[in-house]
Amino acid sequence: MATVLILLGPPGAGKGTQASRLAAERSLPHVSTGDLFRENLSQGTDVGKRAQEFMDAGKLVPDEIVLEMLFDRVARPDCARGYVLDGFPRTLPQAEALQARLPADDEVRAISLEVDDEVVVRRLSGRLTCSKGGHMHHVDFSPPKVAGVCDTCGGELVRRKDDAPEVIQERLAVYREQTAPLIGYYEGLGLLHRIDGAQEPDRVFAELVDAATATRRETA
Ligand code: ADP
Ligand code: ADP
Repeated sequence: MATVLILLGPPGAGKGTQASRLAAERSLPHVSTGDLFRENLSQGTDVGKRAQEFMDAGKLVPDEIVLEMLFDRVARPDCARGYVLDGFPRTLPQAEALQARLPADDEVRAISLEVDDEVVVRRLSGRLTCSKGGHMHHVDFSPPKVAGVCDTCGGELVRRKDDAPEVIQERLAVYREQTAPLIGYYEGLGLLHRIDGAQEPDRVFAELVDAATATRRETA
């Protein structure tokens, strides 16, 4: 039996920041489809080439490309006990394909990090992403000790191309239209937990750990 923890929320909600802490806390791999696409891009793979134009425009990569890449990743042995999903699923067909693929005794919990648009814009416009490990910093909220260098792994900090103001607005529109309905989908399955993502990171994390632990108790 595996534990599958799904982080939902708009771009900038804190999914990446919290997923990596939660994964470390639960000793599970952190599986971010955004990070997987960026790795594919930097390695010049076929998947990277097919995804690039969608990512640059703030659009979603077509489901069949995402699903193939994701299912390959979670079939690897390190995911046998479970994994923390960040940025997947993002459409109803992706969520349905995941549910259909999971064994019935897997423990699934979807946790929605709720933040409003104003917070999203402030967070994404100051986001500094580690080009090595996908770790997160922010110019105001989480500045690195040495400018341009990741505190966690020493990697170079970069501003993502899709964190430009006009692309942020497009990503928010795509989120509202295609991803926000997943909150209702998981609520309908009785698997949803909501957290106020505008709180400071340690508070969000404490609530996240509680939500992930509640899953274990309920299904024990
Ligand atoms: P997502 O993966 O949902 O797009 P990130 O985890 O990359 O979001 O966070 C977006 C930006 O906001 C990053 O620069 C991160 O450092 C910052 N951030 C994340 N959580 C918080 C928080 N609770 N308070 C303030 N800033 C945050
Ligand atoms: P953020 O958390 O800041 O929204 P991500 O790093 O999760 O960004 O994703 C970056 C981009 O990668 C998305 O805008 C989209 O183009 C693509 N992408 C990532 N995950 C998915 C997915 N599950 N379905 C479709 N496209 C995706």
